[in-house]
Parts: sequence; C-alpha cells; structure tokens
Amino acid sequence: MLALALDMGGTHIGCGILDDETLLRSSSLDSQRAESLSSLLPCIESALRDLLKQTGVSAEQCAGLAIGFPGIVDVREGKILSTLKKYEDAIELDLERWARDRFGLRLRMENDARMALLGEQYAGAARDSRDLVMITLGTGIGGAAMIMGKLLRGAHAQAGCLGGHLPVDFRGHPCTCGNIGCAEAEAAGWSLPRIAREMPGFEGSRLSSLSDLDFRALFEWADCGDDVARSVREHCLRVWAANAVALIHAYDPEVVVIGGGVMQSASVILRFVQEYVKKHAWTCWGTPQVRAAKLGGNAALHGATPLLSENLHP
Ligand SMILES: [Zn+2]
Repeated sequence: MLALALDMGGTHIGCGILDDETLLRSSSLDSQRAESLSSLLPCIESALRDLLKQTGVSAEQCAGLAIGFPGIVDVREGKILSTLKKYEDAIELDLERWARDRFGLRLRMENDARMALLGEQYAGAARDSRDLVMITLGTGIGGAAMIMGKLLRGAHAQAGCLGGHLPVDFRGHPCTCGNIGCAEAEAAGWSLPRIAREMPGFEGSRLSSLSDLDFRALFEWADCGDDVARSVREHCLRVWAANAVALIHAYDPEVVVIGGGVMQSASVILRFVQEYVKKHAWTCWGTPQVRAAKLGGNAALHGATPLLSENLHP
C-alpha cells in the first residue's frame, strides 16, 4: 500500500511517502516561525508533490494521506479538537477537503504520539507486541497506548495521549495544560531551562552560560562531570521513569517504547528507566521491557500505513 504522510512537529514538519513499511522518501519543512498552519499549506503541498515526483508515484496510486498532529485529535470524526499554542488555526481548517481537492486523497488525522506508536509497532521496536505504551520525549512529552492490538482512544479521543500530562508531583510547577506537576512541566524541552535555573549551584555551572539549554547540551555537560548538569539529568531521568511506571500501572503493557530527540543518549535513559521500572512497577507477570524507538524522527510517518489500513468503525 502506498501512502503519503505528514508529521506536524513543534519545530518542523516531516513529509513522507511510504510503501507499506518502507519509507520511500522523506523531507522536512521548517515550521518554527510559521504563524499558522494555513500559511504553510502551499509549502506542504509542494513538498508532497516533490516526493511523488522523486519516487515516480502518482497521487492516485496512494491509499490516502495521514497526518500526525501534536494535540487532541479525533480520527473517527476527522477533527483536530484541541491544540497547545501550535497550529492553533488547525481546528478551523477543513483539511479533509484540502487533501481531496489538492491530491484527490482521503485524509486521516491522529495524535502524533499515537502515530509514532503505530509506526514502532508496525515497522520498528515493538513489532512483536500488541500491548505497549509509547513515550516521546521532546519539546513536550507525548504518550500513547495500545491494548490487545487496539490503539486506545476513548470516548473523547483523549485516552492514552495525555501521558506527558500525568502528574508526577502535585506540589510541582504549573503546566501549559492547566494541571500542576505534569511530567512535561517537570522534565521536557520547554520546561528544562527553568528546571536547571532552579537547581542549587546553577550560577556556577556551565549550564548558566548557555543561551539555549536543550537535552543534548545537558547530557553532554553531565558526561563532562558538571555537578549541576548531573543533578538536572538525574531529576529528568526520575521524572521519565516515574512517568513510565504510571503508564505501566494504567495500561498493563509488555513493552514501553521511548522515542524523541533525547534518545541520542538512549543507553543512559534505557538503563535508568528499566531499573526503576523493575524496582517500582507493580506487575505480577514479569517486568515490562523498556526499549528505544527504532525509527527515530520517522516513527510517526511510519504510522501512516497502519492508520490508513485501520477499520475505525468495526
Ligand atoms: Zn500538563
């Protein structure tokens, strides 16, 4: 099955063309400074047309277009229900019509972490599992769950996809979602600079001299022996591990897949989270395996094939 796919990330939009589990070709559009999704649609259209041309595939040969979106999305209604300060006009746009008019294709939209889970389960780190959760660590923290081979969606399309907004500290910091002490508010890309600033000794740390603190820099300085960087890294690892245990208690998975940019430091993260899960998760059958995502930044694109194949109204 041939399919077109888009992954609407916080800083860039991934575009891809797939043949079943093979990503034939992909490209990336910078969306950092884009004010709205509607202003990006012409660029997105031309990026997809380029991919079709480069692969010698026509739009008619494709089974559809799938979009992974960072927000609450109801694939059954074909609607984006809620966004968090990114592509806010998407709720008003008729993207189904856009896909039909521009490419003659049917459209399916889904939350981006759910798409990543579908991708990893179909073509990546969890092919052997029908019961898994996905955690994507990036600017925010995405979550998704599959139970007995079925992607969890719930009555209002919110089930499983708010994993990053499970509270890990009720005395913690306010989150963008309105809650307090969410995993995201305690250890995600957007909250990291504040977490570091609040760490005792920050002023004397190399971290204080960085204009843009991200996880890559944090892990590098921790490896170099900067004490504050080590403390902040330890704090983040504990937040992610607590988040993993919360998801295990909620959804009873066999596998926890962790993806996102920070997995450049996969070995440190996997070892810590796996140990923590072994020690603290209440499971009566064994210990869920903590695995790194295999498909990297392309996981959500790979979710296009299973999403477009799914019978949504069985
Ligand atoms: Zn939150």
